[in-house]
Amino acid sequence: MKRVLITGAAGFLGSHLCDRFIREGHHVIAMDNLLTGDLANIEHLFPLKNFEYYHHDVTKFVHVPGELDYILHFASPASPIDYLKMPIQTLKVGALGTHNLLGLAKAKNARILVASTSEVYGDPLVHPQTEDYWGNVNPVGPRGVYDEAKRFLEAITMAYHNFHNVETRIVRIFNTYGPRMRVDDGRALPAFFAQAIRGQGLTVFGDGSQTRSFCYVDDLVEGIYRLLLSDYHLPVNIGNPDEISIREFAEEIIALVGNPAAYVSYRELPTDDPKVRQPDITKAREILGWEPQVPRREGLKKTYEYFKTRLLR
Ligand code: UDP
Repeated sequence: MKRVLITGAAGFLGSHLCDRFIREGHHVIAMDNLLTGDLANIEHLFPLKNFEYYHHDVTKFVHVPGELDYILHFASPASPIDYLKMPIQTLKVGALGTHNLLGLAKAKNARILVASTSEVYGDPLVHPQTEDYWGNVNPVGPRGVYDEAKRFLEAITMAYHNFHNVETRIVRIFNTYGPRMRVDDGRALPAFFAQAIRGQGLTVFGDGSQTRSFCYVDDLVEGIYRLLLSDYHLPVNIGNPDEISIREFAEEIIALVGNPAAYVSYRELPTDDPKVRQPDITKAREILGWEPQVPRREGLKKTYEYFKTRLLR
């Protein structure tokens, strides 16, 4: 049994990671300040003896009693709407929070995996994105607060690896979906499901020709788990290469929900919205023996069941 600290534990990805590490028989110390997380995502774990919850903001000094084997740093606002609303907190958790957790990893001699993002590639000029692409980020644009925080996160993680010999792992997460996404986080998928279920216009930004590649959360968690256990310290893309335009994506959700009142409603395209995004997962395939297993059709059905229970009760 390992002792594992998960930050952002009450969030979408954090809570699924808690479930996975509990299922593997480990002791999970969950940490969150509930800025964007929701205790409802982990309340089913509270009765377990091998689960503890700490309400804490990781931008402040992080104290955890006892030994730690693994740290997974997943705390951060993560949707464009959230980080536009909370730019300073987003910068602080990526920078100060990561620094605190690297310091904790060093003090406890723990291995740390940090959550980076496809946003480090910005509006990419290389397609699909390979890990050796340096990206095309506007540091002073609205998304800069998230993108640069995550780029700093990678840089300081590499510095702790190189200078302090801390065992580090960096995952670059591409668009991921599944149960426990916040209905109102402003991202395309929760917005589209909510609008389709309510019989409203699906707010497609721009002409909807921009693309994304959506990974089901169980696949992502498997990739992260394998990366943590690997001995590879450079960044690894984890995502599903199955790319789709946002317009087609909205139409898929309309067809799945089957509400005749739903329709596509075009809105202004946000500043610096990446035009294309697709992970090159050659590295994950070779190093981790990992590739996604859940086709979008299947993942969307499971996610629809979740949003139905959230919206129709
Ligand atoms: N998008 C959209 N309608 C929405 C929310 C998002 O058309 O209500 C678009 C957004 O402009 C982007 C894509 O869908 O091109 C994915 O956006 P999301 O916020 O899910 O995440 P991103 O991949 O941009 O971080």
